[in-house]
Amino acid sequence: MELYTPISAIDGIGPSFQWKLKQLEINTVADLIDHFPFRYDDFSNVAPVVEAKEGERVTLKGEVWSIQNVFTRSRKIITKAVFNDGTAPIELIWFNQHWLTKQIKSGDRLQISGKISRYKNKVSVVAPVWEKVNESVVSSLESVAKPIHTGRLVPVYPETYGLTSKWLRTKISDVLPRVLSLIKDPLPEAIRGEMPPLIEAYQEIHFPTDYKKLDAARNRLAFDELFYIQLATQKIRLEWQDKQSLVPIKFDESKIQSFIDNLPFKLTSAQTRVINEVISDLSRSYPMNRLVQGEVGSGKTVVAAALAYLMASVGMRTLVMAPTEILAFQHHKTMSALLEPFKFSVGIYTGSRKKLGDRIKNQGNKNHDSSSIILDSIPDVIVGTHALVSKNIKIDDVGLVIIDEQQRFGVEQRSILRARAKVPHFLTMTATPIPRTVALTLYGDLDLSVIDEMPANRQRVKTHFVPSKKRKDAYKFIAGKVIKGDQVYVVTPLIEESETLESAKAAKVEFIRLSQEVFPNFKLGLLHGRLTSKEKDSVLNKFKDGELDILVSTTVVEVGVDVPNATIMIIEGAERFGLAQLHQLRGRVGRGDKESFCFLFASSEERGIVSRLKNLETIYDGMKLSELDLKIRGGGEVFGTRQSGRFNLKIASLADITLLERTRREAREVLLKDPRLEKHPQLRVKLSDLIANASPD
Ligand code: ADP
Ligand code: MG
Repeated sequence: MELYTPISAIDGIGPSFQWKLKQLEINTVADLIDHFPFRYDDFSNVAPVVEAKEGERVTLKGEVWSIQNVFTRSRKIITKAVFNDGTAPIELIWFNQHWLTKQIKSGDRLQISGKISRYKNKVSVVAPVWEKVNESVVSSLESVAKPIHTGRLVPVYPETYGLTSKWLRTKISDVLPRVLSLIKDPLPEAIRGEMPPLIEAYQEIHFPTDYKKLDAARNRLAFDELFYIQLATQKIRLEWQDKQSLVPIKFDESKIQSFIDNLPFKLTSAQTRVINEVISDLSRSYPMNRLVQGEVGSGKTVVAAALAYLMASVGMRTLVMAPTEILAFQHHKTMSALLEPFKFSVGIYTGSRKKLGDRIKNQGNKNHDSSSIILDSIPDVIVGTHALVSKNIKIDDVGLVIIDEQQRFGVEQRSILRARAKVPHFLTMTATPIPRTVALTLYGDLDLSVIDEMPANRQRVKTHFVPSKKRKDAYKFIAGKVIKGDQVYVVTPLIEESETLESAKAAKVEFIRLSQEVFPNFKLGLLHGRLTSKEKDSVLNKFKDGELDILVSTTVVEVGVDVPNATIMIIEGAERFGLAQLHQLRGRVGRGDKESFCFLFASSEERGIVSRLKNLETIYDGMKLSELDLKIRGGGEVFGTRQSGRFNLKIASLADITLLERTRREAREVLLKDPRLEKHPQLRVKLSDLIANASPD
């Protein structure tokens, strides 16, 4: 057995289990042992029945005297066993597991773990975990065959339908010892220091000896996870700086001024700072690779337009990539308005509307690839969707590529680079607020800019957590606004990480409920990720044109429509979202002059949930909310649904700032002495996958 042996080669794993394991992203032996427990049941307290107290979690060893299924009055099946450990008999109870009488027979010796409780006035253990033991285990506590399901810190794994923790535990306990010796530890001894060897860490994370060793194992594995990410991103950064240099660009100060003077508003100092950071990047001899963070409404598009203007002023083209067609058209409109006064042209290219003014020529036959498109008199700025690169479009003289809110980080960059000889400058823009230490880790290969200031006089979206008893009042208030002509977004709960059938269904159900029961007199529309882009466009355009009063939507609405007349947002199941994501969502309203509102509904009104959500009533700073998310719920929330794909963390927490900083420092030191990792071949191997997935090249 090798680490990369497919899981199906293991005894007892047929196609059905293989499929189930795939749901947990377990395809190989390595994936299986990398499937870490998310908690442990402490069944290490092994005691005789006579000493066990009610409410205590214990492990008992003994013999089954009898076992049988009985029916309750409500026709439910209960399995009852009398169990004796030699000190006193006790009853074991299981509900709805009638098959247990086939697995456990009277006379069997078991070790069971569970909580001592009182059932129908008898001392019992309800739904105990159990395993059969041989005589030696029962007679000697220190038996060689150490139990795995009971009598210890028992690992509890993320499960999926038809795959229980017990099953996973059994398989892992079988496989792990057979592959432990194959695990190579690429971490240099000097960095490992006091931490346990990797092999020990694997053993202890699955089957801990005690809490202390478990902690040490967890720390070791978390360290590795972050350290390799740090090393990968910093290495990508070094390699990027080695790239073929462009001609350094010098801009004419007075030109910049004339663009700024022509704006209908004054740039914020944050916008000016970011523009200057980019200008200084462009004057270097290697290509820029920069990430601009700025929350919704902070004015990223104007920054993009200013940079496109600067490039055009020195005769170089800019490509602006938007995540959706609607956004592409929106950017096209904004950019045209800002650039055409200077006689620069702005074109658009999307999948469905291949339109670059009348300047596009499809020279299908002259080319090998009939779908590739050659542009001859090309606009100075080209706005488009992914179709721009997927069609293998050949555009020379592109000096700058601006990527706005891409869903899968790096993918666009990769395909652009593949299609081109010369490396352009890259600017990626995101509205997701990412705390600095986190950004330096996950995006450590990029330079970071933050637009941390909103344009003046921006109104706040008045936000209220609405308890369920006030729901009717909220609807009444909203109806009053709609009658006066305002428009409303209703965002339905996040069901899973990505847009699924389930989310679409939930949105549909809410759409029907609202249309029929709550707002029968208004016009409602439905938007979700399962619609075709044509259908999405059509719904959004209707909403934009005011033909719809209320738009019921999944979070797909998050990525940028601009409807100034929409003044109210309802968010259902708000407790399922991170605070920063809720903040981003509410940024869809309050885009005009009218007073705007965001109402948060939750499906639970537990204190912790309510107080977490109430933060949105008082905090209007996306970065602060994002840091709160990190504190309250750990890293998963920071990225909402979209940008988590770059690196998947199994065990480390992005909230562990100390570890983030420590691993970053260690990685920097390694690369300082050995930039190409020539002296660390094992590290190179370890990084190759990470780099391949995360690198733009
Ligand atoms: P983002 O892309 O960051 O969400 P936009 O670039 O779309 O934000 O800007 C949002 C709105 O704010 C636009 O209508 C834009 O014209 C306006 N805007 C941008 N910068 C400023 C500024 N400095 N002062 C006033 N309004 C601004
Ligand atoms: Mg934007």
